[in-house]
Amino acid sequence: MITFQEALNHTTKEIPELDTELIHLRDSYGRVLAQNVYSDINMPPFNKAAVDGFACRRVDLEEPLEVIETIAAGKVSQRTVAEGKCAKIMTGAMLPKGADCVVMVEQTELLADGRVKILNLKTKNNIAYKAEDIKTGELVLQSNTLIAPQHQAVMAAVGATKIIVYRKARVAVFSTGDELVEPEQQPEQGKIRNSNGIQLVNQASRMGCEVRYGGIIPDTAEDSERMIREAYHWSDVILLSGGISMGEFDFIPAVLQKLQFDIKFRTISVQPGKPTVFGRSGDKFVMALPGNPISSFNIFELLAKPMIYRLMGYAYTAKRFEFPLAVDYKRKRSVRLAFIPAILNENGVNPVGYHGSAHINALSAANVLFEIPVGTTEMLKGEKVHVRFI
Ligand code: AMP
Ligand code: MG
Repeated sequence: MITFQEALNHTTKEIPELDTELIHLRDSYGRVLAQNVYSDINMPPFNKAAVDGFACRRVDLEEPLEVIETIAAGKVSQRTVAEGKCAKIMTGAMLPKGADCVVMVEQTELLADGRVKILNLKTKNNIAYKAEDIKTGELVLQSNTLIAPQHQAVMAAVGATKIIVYRKARVAVFSTGDELVEPEQQPEQGKIRNSNGIQLVNQASRMGCEVRYGGIIPDTAEDSERMIREAYHWSDVILLSGGISMGEFDFIPAVLQKLQFDIKFRTISVQPGKPTVFGRSGDKFVMALPGNPISSFNIFELLAKPMIYRLMGYAYTAKRFEFPLAVDYKRKRSVRLAFIPAILNENGVNPVGYHGSAHINALSAANVLFEIPVGTTEMLKGEKVHVRFI
């Protein structure tokens, strides 16, 4: 049995990045940049008004000013603001020649003769200066950035419409177990519905993977081998759930070895989630997760997600925060690092009623997992615990 940190080292070190492809900016949400992005323009490209108001010369502010024109956003003024003059100007419009400040419309008064009186003689300049945000040629986004809408906004501004990103990881998902039926079926006696299948498919999908669901593998060595072999050719990562404990029908580890996977670990000191198999064969990876739905969910988040993101070029590390426990918490044994579903609210961290790792509605009510370190059986209300959002 290895520690959680050792397992994480296996799933995050020496993971090769996938190939890259050229895509359009509009398809880039959730993808990972495989190039730096530089600006092809200055931002702003010209001195522009930061407010609606009057473009003036600061030396002239004491006397009422004659308004020579109105400059709308997107228009270029051909005139010069000379002594005693000003131009009405809209936010975002290019500053006219001669002007060195823009007085907010709220700080002016329109006189009966059509001139404008400036009420705030100490006005700020209210100008967004050329290139103050971004200079032509400047690096605006670094390679290996996971692209969110705000990154797309930057790329749109600098005209980066064709970009190179890492290809999506191809992930095959299987459930294992003769007791499983698919969710649309009514389980006969002794059977349960497959809940890990859809959970894993969408844990991978929401990371931007290309996912294929391969169905339920019956508990036989032959079926396991045949179905995993089929998925092997297409996928970068095979995710399985169940079939890896010490039961008589837990065939998966032996099958993976037969398929030439180099098994990096088989048990980890994590609760829940002790039986977890991680293997590698060349550039292909397999992770067999515990069958229990909470264990399966947790181990995907804790170990599979960082691994798959690295394949896709993104150095994901889970963010952990400290919050106080809202109640006392006890557990019987302390040999494993525990990740317990909890609800984080204004009172702190509230562990959800949780009978064991099969208790899925406990997980669906939770918004965080909190950690109980190895060696700790009891934590008191108010004590700080590490949480990660799920
Ligand atoms: P196993 O690791 O195959 O021994 O499974 C451990 C437990 O998780 C058993 O109670 C299984 O019935 C349950 N289980 C396994 N796979 C699934 C699944 N896909 N959906 C829901 N429960 C499962
Ligand atoms: Mg099973």
